[in-house]
Amino acid sequence: TALIEARDLTLAFGETPALRGASLAVEAGEVLAVMGPSGSGKSTLLHCLAGILTPDSGEVHFDGRRIDAMNEAERSALRRDTFGFVFQFGQLVPELTAEENVALPLLLSGTRRAAALAEARPWFAQLGLDGLEGRRSGELSGGQAQRVALARGMVARPKVLFADEPTGALDSLTGEQVMELMVAAAREHGTTVILVTHEPRVAAYADRETMVRDGKAGALSAGRIAS
Ligand code: ADP
Ligand code: ADP
Repeated sequence: TALIEARDLTLAFGETPALRGASLAVEAGEVLAVMGPSGSGKSTLLHCLAGILTPDSGEVHFDGRRIDAMNEAERSALRRDTFGFVFQFGQLVPELTAEENVALPLLLSGTRRAAALAEARPWFAQLGLDGLEGRRSGELSGGQAQRVALARGMVARPKVLFADEPTGALDSLTGEQVMELMVAAAREHGTTVILVTHEPRVAAYADRETMVRDGKAGALSAGRIAS
């Protein structure tokens, strides 16, 4: 059975329909790429799956629970304790060091500073960031910053990592490095990944692809099926 399943989601921003009957199922441990042109509703779909937005109609099931029926406090707890996030831009706090940025989700959920930094540190070796622990994140290169963001998204061992155009601000070589590291980290920890991208080269790192067009998802394209 699916870890996350969206059924027939609709959502409009005022007069603008963003989702018009989007359905999707994701298995535990799977890396799924959500593809589609700009404005097709990919980010809105991801935000509904992650409990950031509530759909106007339809259901979002996660691990036996209905995310769409949760109140804001429940959704916020789910995002904090169970989900991780990597976005395209502006996600690091520039005045904090790289390791403080990675530790942030743990600090926000009440872990003491020393313990949070100790959890953060192994990610620097794993993601090729050795020696950058104390660097202000505003002084990192784009690729380094995105690897720090990946570490931050994974540090609390989320069940699901939501990645919205995580390579969108990077050149293609750097983007591929980030994708390789993301998929390797997800495999190692058994993390399910939902990756929004409009780039086929990025989607090729996923086990499977689904297309969003005009707010509708569900037609599965022939992705690369692992195992
Ligand atoms: P994609 O991620 O595929 O580029 P989005 O989900 O961001 O698509 O957007 C889908 C549609 O909804 C677009 O027409 C977009 O302009 C609109 N939209 C998205 N977010 C908002 C918002 N916060 N307010 C108004 N319109 C929005
Ligand atoms: P992406 O599609 O990669 O999320 P966008 O630039 O479309 O990037 O959206 C960035 C943010 O702006 C999102 O949080 C989205 O909800 C919001 N947004 C997108 N389109 C609109 C819009 N037409 N009006 C208001 N907010 C929007």
